[in-house]
Amino acid sequence: MSALQLSRVSKVYGVGAGEVHALRSVDLSVEPGELVAVMGPSGSGKSTLLTIAGSLEEPTSGEVSVGGLPLSRMSRNERAALRRRAIGYVFQDFNLLAGLTAAENVSLPLELDGTSIKAARVAAVDALERLGLADRAQHFPDELSGGERQRVAIARAVVGQRHLLLADEPSGALDSVNGEAVMRLVRATCQGGVAGVVVTHDAQLASWADRVVFLRDGRIVDQTAEPAGPESLLEADAAR
Ligand code: ADP
Repeated sequence: MSALQLSRVSKVYGVGAGEVHALRSVDLSVEPGELVAVMGPSGSGKSTLLTIAGSLEEPTSGEVSVGGLPLSRMSRNERAALRRRAIGYVFQDFNLLAGLTAAENVSLPLELDGTSIKAARVAAVDALERLGLADRAQHFPDELSGGERQRVAIARAVVGQRHLLLADEPSGALDSVNGEAVMRLVRATCQGGVAGVVVTHDAQLASWADRVVFLRDGRIVDQTAEPAGPESLLEADAAR
């Protein structure tokens, strides 16, 4: 069973002359443990694909299933619970809360979902340990480096029992060394059985993925089947 499946997903914004077809009949399956990178020019639909995959927005037509469960058959509350429990998001600007420590930032999604504070903190420290941040758990975001803040954001996205990790340019605000480190962490997280979808502009970073999906004008125009080196990705992009 796919961790994420998009079947003929289309998204239209606006009406009439102002209509924008952000996604056009997109088919995409991501298996547990698989990491897929999404590339494409600005406006090609990458962010729309991510927000629809994460049930933050509904498609105009087509079906999205997470863990084999079609989102369209869930109630609003069921979708909200799925977002809290099973789906992790990493945003470009990290979105850490300045008044909370690293451990509190990471445990917050579990606490909001009704996990006891004690159990949530244990899970948070575990996630921070997996990302090499055990000694930073009690630090506040402004006491952490950019790379450390990014790792806290990833820990928050994978804490508990997540099945799906969605990241929009997770390395966008980082230098190339830290960007590479972030992709290595996302890769390692997926090897633990989580399915990952990462939007990136950087072919070098995309080469960490099992598969690269190229979007253009809302359509998938190409996919690499095998892990490809950065050079071959650049060639593929230039050929279009
Ligand atoms: P990308 O992430 O590849 O830059 P997006 O998914 O953000 O592309 O956008 C795809 C298209 O949909 C663009 O033409 C964009 O202007 C349009 N779009 C995205 N979100 C909205 C929205 N909320 N309302 C109207 N148009 C939108």
